[in-house]
Amino acid sequence: MSRLLSKIALNSDICRALIIASYIEKMLYNEHKFKRKQEPGGSIEVICGSMFSGKTEELIRRLKRAKIAQLNVEIFKPKTDVRYDDSDVVSHDANSIPSTPVENSSAILLLGTNTQVVGIDEAQFFDMELPAVCSQLANRGIRVIVAGLDMDFQGKPFGPMPALMAIAEDVSKVHAICLQCGAPANHSYRTVASDSTIFLGEKESYEPRCRDCFNTNS
Ligand SMILES: [Zn+2]
Repeated sequence: MSRLLSKIALNSDICRALIIASYIEKMLYNEHKFKRKQEPGGSIEVICGSMFSGKTEELIRRLKRAKIAQLNVEIFKPKTDVRYDDSDVVSHDANSIPSTPVENSSAILLLGTNTQVVGIDEAQFFDMELPAVCSQLANRGIRVIVAGLDMDFQGKPFGPMPALMAIAEDVSKVHAICLQCGAPANHSYRTVASDSTIFLGEKESYEPRCRDCFNTNS
């Protein structure tokens, strides 16, 4: 009787071991599939929103994580953006990361061959070729992360941003807080008179507003 019981116990141990082995095999298979899927594929991520919405902070957060993961990261911004520093992507909270200012979007294609992640800040100021450039990079297997204003001070789609949002794998809209009423803000309201779309006065010239307060225009 005791021999029979120990035989049953042995069999159930073998069964358990077989079940665990098949689980591990499945897990490894899924992981393998996942890795294979991740390896060759580049992608485009867009981070957009109004001024003071934390776009650049989010871009810097993602790029710093890529650097921690030991990936080769390169960062670009348009030469027109000279608000704070010539060669750093600088956010409003002075959390900065070194970047290369470029004249036009095609200059981004001249980056090093071992680059795995490309960050682009102030994308709204780039030319209309930027979406095609980002597509080319993503097709090369590069993860492209683009941050920019989705709307100008008149509430109109800004430069290459709408096309970038259309072709991106992932779009994150971030929001500021409306200075008039405290609601989430998606507009950049210009508080000084100027018709230029590229007008980089920053804090003193703009305030974040929700749709209602933006339309109130006061
Ligand atoms: Zn409001």
